[in-house]
Amino acid sequence: MVDSQAPILIVGAGQAGVQIAETLRQEGYTGDLLLIGNEVHPPYQRPPLSKKWLLEPGALSALSLRGADALVRRRIELKLDTEVTAIDRAASRLRFANGEQLAYSKLALATGALARALALPGASLGQVLSLRSIADSGAISAALRRCATEGRPVVVIGGGFIGLEVAASARKLGAAVTVLEGLPRLMSRVTAPIVSEAFERVHRAHGVELVFNAQVTQLRGSAGCVESVCTADGREYAAGCVVVGIGVVPDDRLAAAAGLACDRGILVDECARTSDPSIAAAGDCTARRLADGRLLRLESVQNAVEQAKSAAVALLGRERPFRAAPWFWSDQYDIKLQMVGLSHGYDQVVTRGDVQKPAFSAFYFQAGRLIAVDSLSRVQDHMQSKRLLDHGLSPTPEQAADPLFDLQSLLREAKPATADGA
Ligand SMILES: Cc1cc2nc3c(=O)[nH]c(=O)nc-3n(C[C@H](O)[C@H](O)[C@H](O)COP(=O)(O)OP(=O)(O)OC[C@H]3O[C@@H](n4cnc5c(N)ncnc54)[C@H](O)[C@@H]3O)c2cc1C
Repeated sequence: MVDSQAPILIVGAGQAGVQIAETLRQEGYTGDLLLIGNEVHPPYQRPPLSKKWLLEPGALSALSLRGADALVRRRIELKLDTEVTAIDRAASRLRFANGEQLAYSKLALATGALARALALPGASLGQVLSLRSIADSGAISAALRRCATEGRPVVVIGGGFIGLEVAASARKLGAAVTVLEGLPRLMSRVTAPIVSEAFERVHRAHGVELVFNAQVTQLRGSAGCVESVCTADGREYAAGCVVVGIGVVPDDRLAAAAGLACDRGILVDECARTSDPSIAAAGDCTARRLADGRLLRLESVQNAVEQAKSAAVALLGRERPFRAAPWFWSDQYDIKLQMVGLSHGYDQVVTRGDVQKPAFSAFYFQAGRLIAVDSLSRVQDHMQSKRLLDHGLSPTPEQAADPLFDLQSLLREAKPATADGA
């Protein structure tokens, strides 16, 4: 039974949760609003945790998503260190770990994701670390420094974004690093071979040992602490610490237990609506079924923010589909990788810029149409490609590959209404 006077409750005080609350206020919601998070810290940004923060953990305020006053000013009540344990949909109530209950008029789920755990013998040894929270980042930062000082190697399991950002930081701190990747190249699920190869060269040039097709079988240690990582080919890699970066698992546990439709994430439509009209969901905890039947899961700041705006509007009974091209970034050494669009299903890749440096963009085409662009230290290419994709415009592969061709001209030529006034 819905009590329309009850507050809107938001579970998860991260990137998506904060944005849902703020958008509700911006869209004119004046009722009570409660943002509930199980961490002790006020809402914070996660991207620096695998980048700058690893090198120089600083004041927590530097990670803050919003200044302390911002939520108070908008009458957004923040309840930290509070675990929601169940959703009683029949009674429209949340249950908390301390036994309390709270009624909601509408509910938003923004529970994020959990670092995927390594399910192997030895994975629970000390100094086997993964990265999701401020505490994780602090522990990894300390471990990297200790390894650098003691001359012990760092082993990173997983050659994806997080693993490679940690590897770059470890090298900057002076530690020896080995990356064990199970597939034949780096970031292989999301980039073309030419991009993987560029990062392979860069990491090797910085002294990282990269091992491909590495099937980790167990971790060994003594006195409760990891000392080596074993692979199926019989090799054993000495380790002062091990950082596991093998992806995330969307945290849909509350939703699934409450009977909401889930499939490796809380299933939402493009307006962030779940299978229950009173409940919306946004961010890393969600998954979306595309028209071709594929399941789309995005773990990025942009997705969390844009889906959150849609979720807030959905809770107010309106529609705001999130259709913009997805984008993401990763910082490794002095290279900024910026990705826009979804490259899945591409049949042609052309490059623009200097592949060897590397300072280039890889343009992904499907049947002659642009579907995605990865830019390495080519910010302008990224910005222009983003606008092209958002407006459904495509250069030809020849135009994309020609550094003298002005991508911006396609936006100018498009009708002003389409081209965002360009
Ligand atoms: C190390 C790292 C680096 C990243 N780098 C980038 C990057 O460079 N670029 C980029 O675009 N994205 C990056 N991301 C991804 C980006 O940070 C996430 O996509 C974004 O934080 C998702 O926001 P969210 O609100 O969905 O989840 P989160 O920020 O994880 O917030 C979810 C919150 O809900 C809480 N919660 C869960 N269950 C409950 C419960 N039952 N009760 C109460 N609270 C609960 C969680 O503890 C958490 O605080 C990075 C992520 C990490 C971890």
